[in-house]
Amino acid sequence: MQITRLRLTGFKSFVDPADLRIEPGLTGVVGPNGCGKSNLLEALRWAMGESSARSLRGAGMEDVIFAGTATRPQRDFAEVAIHAVAGDDEEVEVVRRIERGAGSAYRLNGRDVRARDVALLFADAATGAHSPALVSQNRIGAVIAAKPVERRAMLEEAAGIAGLHVRRKEAETR
Ligand code: ATP
Ligand code: MG
Repeated sequence: MQITRLRLTGFKSFVDPADLRIEPGLTGVVGPNGCGKSNLLEALRWAMGESSARSLRGAGMEDVIFAGTATRPQRDFAEVAIHAVAGDDEEVEVVRRIERGAGSAYRLNGRDVRARDVALLFADAATGAHSPALVSQNRIGAVIAAKPVERRAMLEEAAGIAGLHVRRKEAETR
């Protein structure tokens, strides 16, 4: 899966609509401290299904919505869209939207879907909100010090079988 575009509205510091093309090859995001570089990666993880507000540096999930500044009022919703080309050359658009007091919802190519559909899509593509390919600023040490079981999860994901575990867990809870 190749992520080709990231669109954000009202997500954290990205109050105005932002539309970022991600070209093949290496992409670097540079800018002064606090300009929103980490927020971009968090937007990616959030749209892929991150359910822990803490791991997005917030206390509650609504903390991802633009909270306002001295000059601009807060927003009522945040929306992040990921455009990607899947393994079979198929274009997919995953959108996650959260509204104050109303929770969040997902759309896949314009259709309402469940969080698990999005989780499966990314797990089968060997990525996702908890992919070891996404290492946050303060998590580098954790990767180095990972326990064998955690390291196995990284290898399984790299091998593209993480989706099987999601399905097994689901089968077990039925
Ligand atoms: P560094 O180089 O220090 O790592 P960075 O470019 O990664 O910086 P971020 O951590 O992505 O910066 O952005 C932090 C900024 O995002 C802060 O100014 C913070 O106030 C702002 N921010 C975070 N959440 C919200 C929110 N809900 N509403 C408005 N602004 C927010
Ligand atoms: Mg940062």
